[in-house]
Amino acid sequence: MNLEINKSRIIELKKIIDNANYAYYTLDMPEIEDSVYDSLYKELIKIEEKYPSLKTIDSPTNRLGGKISDGFEKLIHTIPLYSLDNAFNSKEVNNWLIKIEKLLSQDRDSSATKNLLVAELKIDGNALALKYQNGVLVSAATRGDGQEGEDITINAKRIRSIPLRLRINDPPEILEIRGEAFISNNSFQEINAYRESKGEQLFANPRNACAGSLRQLDPKVVSKRNLDFYAYQVHFPNNPIFKKKYNNQWARLEFLKDCGFKINLHSKLINNIAELEKYYEFWKKERNKINFDTDGIVIKINDIKNQEILGHTQKAPRWAIALKFPAEEITTKIQSLSFQVGRSGAITPVANFEEVQLAGTKVSRATLHNIERFEYLDIHYSDTIIVRKAGEIIPEVVKVIKELRINNSVKIKFPELCPSCGCKLEKIPAEATIKCINRNCEAILKGLLKHWVSKSAMNIDGLGAKIIEQLLAANLIRNISDLYTLNYEKLIKLERMGEKSILNLLQGIENSKNQLWKKKLYGLGINHIGQVTAKNICNKFNCIEDLKEASLNNPNKLMEINGIGDEIIESLKTWFKSQENIKLIRMLHERGFFFQNEIDGNSITHIENNEINKKVFVLTGTMKSFSREQLITKIEGYGGQVKNSISKNIDYLIVGDKAGNKLEKAKKLGTNILKEEELLNLLSKNQET
Ligand code: NAD
Repeated sequence: MNLEINKSRIIELKKIIDNANYAYYTLDMPEIEDSVYDSLYKELIKIEEKYPSLKTIDSPTNRLGGKISDGFEKLIHTIPLYSLDNAFNSKEVNNWLIKIEKLLSQDRDSSATKNLLVAELKIDGNALALKYQNGVLVSAATRGDGQEGEDITINAKRIRSIPLRLRINDPPEILEIRGEAFISNNSFQEINAYRESKGEQLFANPRNACAGSLRQLDPKVVSKRNLDFYAYQVHFPNNPIFKKKYNNQWARLEFLKDCGFKINLHSKLINNIAELEKYYEFWKKERNKINFDTDGIVIKINDIKNQEILGHTQKAPRWAIALKFPAEEITTKIQSLSFQVGRSGAITPVANFEEVQLAGTKVSRATLHNIERFEYLDIHYSDTIIVRKAGEIIPEVVKVIKELRINNSVKIKFPELCPSCGCKLEKIPAEATIKCINRNCEAILKGLLKHWVSKSAMNIDGLGAKIIEQLLAANLIRNISDLYTLNYEKLIKLERMGEKSILNLLQGIENSKNQLWKKKLYGLGINHIGQVTAKNICNKFNCIEDLKEASLNNPNKLMEINGIGDEIIESLKTWFKSQENIKLIRMLHERGFFFQNEIDGNSITHIENNEINKKVFVLTGTMKSFSREQLITKIEGYGGQVKNSISKNIDYLIVGDKAGNKLEKAKKLGTNILKEEELLNLLSKNQET
């Protein structure tokens, strides 16, 4: 049975990979992300290894590269060009090193233990094979299937970093050079901008733009595309003298430089795994700062004799491995869907799947956002999905690979009842959401309370999700205003609540009464009122009563606020129409909590005509007396604005310890520069006004 399932999976995987190869290598227009391709490819290898009888000769794992196009002559490589095996974490690199140790243990050249490895950046371009005869470039070819490629000599001659004649005296009769042709990110953007202006299809990425350019039939176009080339390997066929003189990769890179090639100067000699990890971690962070794409590092055995002993497999050398940078998109298999109830009652479907490494972290859950996306994705049990996590963004399900759906698998249904309280869910067409509308739903209450106490709202220390759950379970609170009825006697009944934490908690709750008006408004969790909108509203209205009046009777006043439109006005109106919400505000008032501006206990309504109001500030360096967030809050409390970067529109730069580049820039622009103490003086001076 298992064999049968894997057999059909293999057939589908091969089909998808073959199609992807065609789009990528022949059309230069990839249809899926490289990391998605890599994970499907890895899955295929895994099944083929487990069930060798299922591996056929036409499997893409047997082949390297794509079909050679018709426009160019074929050129047989005298020394084949290989791909690289991939590792996706340092454990896999370690395993590779252990294997190498074993393979070399008898034959190893003992002088080669120091400077064991060379680490290079893996340039995301296209491999080229160049041949020099008596120092003159005679041919250039693409990798093709590794044995034969396309003769693109005429185009290679248009790449300025490929020397037509080597810069050394007495070159060997024949030199075989390997390296990577690529297009810098700047040039890539220019090429696509030009294509866009001409209404032509855009290239997906620099690597495909480079492949397309190398295969251009008109060499003049190649000149315009500004291709570049890094050499990373040299062979000296039938030349024992040169081979002996340059007997390690590092020396050969130096030789390539002497010949007039560009070599990548970020390469490094490596002695051990710790150095290797440092190199990898450094480039994982810094790679965005260089002007070409790199998708990993290449680790090579430095000693050429050892390289020769290790040899290569059908597809890749055994003496090198690529350690890829973390993927942002990857495939995995669905296990189930959960349906989370948010503080507005909206139900968010969340996918649970087999754990994967994504953008450097382990991930096993990803959001489907809303019902529309749920319907579009049409997920069935055991589906293969693509998940994505770019930078700080939360993981999301991008796509289902329908070709890999198993027969008779069942579609996962959206629930009709709230998973928390069991009430019937309602479809809200205008919002593209399905909602639980039970005001007493435990999940909604929990969501509202968590939002209220969060850092960006009331910032109540010591009141996390766990304690909120305990308070709800003990029936001590049912809504936000109940927090302000808590006292020592009530809290001491809770499990694991000591005297100190109770006092901290009560102090935190009390302090929240002095939070800024904009934070209080944000804390209410009204639909569409994020931090920025709350700030803009609070700049216009001094208290919640004025806001209520405008929301119910005078929406034009709200319209005057930057960024506020019909959707927000509707949401405010709905919120203030609810008797429950009006009761909440009244109860909070009765318990000493007011929705208006408070600073240090003194109610300050809008301060006009001070030296901070409407002025624009930038902060740099570490502040001594306050956190950055506190200073920003203070400045904004006086009507000032805080921005991130220096420009001529900035009024003040506030400098703390270890001020960065912003200080230099501010000096050049003649911006007012204030020390932290000077800012505090300015603030207290304006408080008196
Ligand atoms: P590869 O690009 O992963 O690695 C091998 C290549 O790395 C070598 O051929 C060489 O050109 C290059 N390289 C760069 N810097 C180097 C250095 N310093 N030293 C040595 N080599 C260096 O492998 P590949 O065989 O060229 O292509 C396979 C990859 O292409 C897949 O892993 C996938 O990511 C991508 N691909 C994507 C799709 C898609 O649809 N998105 C389809 C096919 C292939």
